[in-house]
This record gives sequence, structure tokens and C-alpha cells, in this order.
Amino acid sequence: MLRNVPVLVLDFDSWATNNSGGTIAEFYEDADFRKAVDGAVLILASQEEHGTKRQTIDGVERNVCQTYGGTLCTDHLRMLTEISRDAKVFEKVAKDGAIISPMFVTITPAHEVVTVIHHEQRAPAVVAMVKEAQKRVGNGLARSDYLRLKRGLDEAKQLANASDYSAAVEILEELARIPGDYKPIATARGDLDALEPRGRELMKVAESSWSSGDCAAALTQMDDVATGFGKLAAARDAAARVAAWEKSPEAKPFLANLKADRAARILFVQGRTARRAGDAKRAVTALEKLVHDFPKSRFTPRGRELLATLKPKK
Ligand SMILES: [Zn+2]
Repeated sequence: MLRNVPVLVLDFDSWATNNSGGTIAEFYEDADFRKAVDGAVLILASQEEHGTKRQTIDGVERNVCQTYGGTLCTDHLRMLTEISRDAKVFEKVAKDGAIISPMFVTITPAHEVVTVIHHEQRAPAVVAMVKEAQKRVGNGLARSDYLRLKRGLDEAKQLANASDYSAAVEILEELARIPGDYKPIATARGDLDALEPRGRELMKVAESSWSSGDCAAALTQMDDVATGFGKLAAARDAAARVAAWEKSPEAKPFLANLKADRAARILFVQGRTARRAGDAKRAVTALEKLVHDFPKSRFTPRGRELLATLKPKK
């Protein structure tokens, strides 16, 4: 099952705004309503043609229904046809073979109608029926989590292909924590485990630097695995290895540099994480500190690149 959530059908046709009914716009502005339908599939059904307007959805401008937006009139017209064709749903929804609107219906993924209500409603009444249907269906995957998984898996794949393992691991660990038994979450866990051999390969590179006497390179290479592979076993083993090296006399001249490299990495990762979370202010603070305190660090050029994406161009 893709998401295991109920369907909410909204049919606002012949809506009359009066004192008790409220407005259609109220639904889209209601935070509880938006939160409830994140755990459902929202279907707008209407048997009217409204004309088109332009709307930007997910960054792409397209033609949409002038009255409801989001979708074309042909889509919301088709929805009623689909409902009429689904005999199991239609017999519960229709009165004497006709659909009375306005109408609100919740349906389980198995096509069981949970609740049908007619006439103008306020948002809380519809929120309550969505919650009841969610209870009937059991735990589901929210639409926002589904989209986060879809985008995150793609992003992590690109980062891993570009050998940016630490960024890929951070994204995949976040996605793997989403609760539930859904395919994209299992994919995130699988993609994460698939990075373990990459960590082992990098450890071998660090080991050969160490045995050829390049202690400075060995320390930072091993430290990259220790800090960049999350909770994977390679990270734990690399941390143990770098800790052992730090105690050896050969490493002594390089320990101050290692300490500075770690401090710079922490600031870079803080900035990158905050930027991904949409916290531009926190990202700028961390990255500006990186550029200021560690102008020559290997993380600083990438820190500058991220900063350029965060600061408004003058
Ligand atoms: Zn329309």
C-alpha cells in the first residue's frame, strides 16, 4: 500500500454562503484542515466548468481551474464520473441515483465509505470526519512525508554519486526515521546501508596514507569517515582508528591542524543542515563564522558557495 490513508472527497457545487455555512476559502486557510488532509488524499469533485487561470505549483506555472485552483476543471469533472462508476461508493453517496451537493465524503483505501455529509459545513466538522476515517484506516504516511521521501531519495542518490557521502548520509538517516512500513522508507534504509562499503573504501585510502607516512592526510581522511557516515559501522570503526592514531607520536605535529579541521567541519555541517531545514538565519551565522574563523580550511570554499545561495543578491 502506497500511503494507507483515507480519501476525502469535497464537492462544493451549489455552495451558498450564509451565516451558518462559512466560506469555501475557509477550508484552505484552516490550519487544522490542512494538517488533517496531509494524512489523506484530497479529491475535489465538481460538475461545473469554471474556466482557467495560471497558477504556480511546485515551481511550474500551469493552467488550473479558475474557481478552485490546483487542478483543471476536466479533472474535478472526471472525479464525479469516477465516483459514479464505483458502485460500492456510489450507492452510499447518492440519493435516488443523484449526487446532492455540497457534499463531503471519506472513503477508505478499500473503497468503504466512512462518512457522507451534505450541505455547507465549517472546517472543524470536516476535520472531525477525516480524523475518524484515519482512525478506521490505521497509521498512514502523510503526504508531506511522502514528498519529503521522494525528493530526499533523489537528492541523496545524486550526492552519493558525487561522493558527497556525509550530506547523503544525513538525508538518508532523516528519511529512515520516518515511522511506518512503507516502501520509500525501506528504500532509504537500504540506500543508507549501501553506503557502508563506500566508507570502508575510504578507510582503506586513509590506512594507505598512514602506512606511507602521510599522517596529516591519514588523520583527516579517517576523520571524514568517522564524522560523515552517521551511525554506520564504518563510522564507528573509523572513529576508533583515528582516536588510536591521535595517541601515536607520529601524529603529534598534526593534532593542532586536525582540531581546526574538525571545528571548521562542524560549522560547515551546521550551515548545510540549517540551510536544508530552511533556517537561513542559522545557516548564515554558521557559514559566516566558518569563513571568518577558518579562511583557509578545505570546507571554506563550499561554505562560501552555500552562503552565496543564502544571501539576497544586491
Ligand atoms: Zn473548475
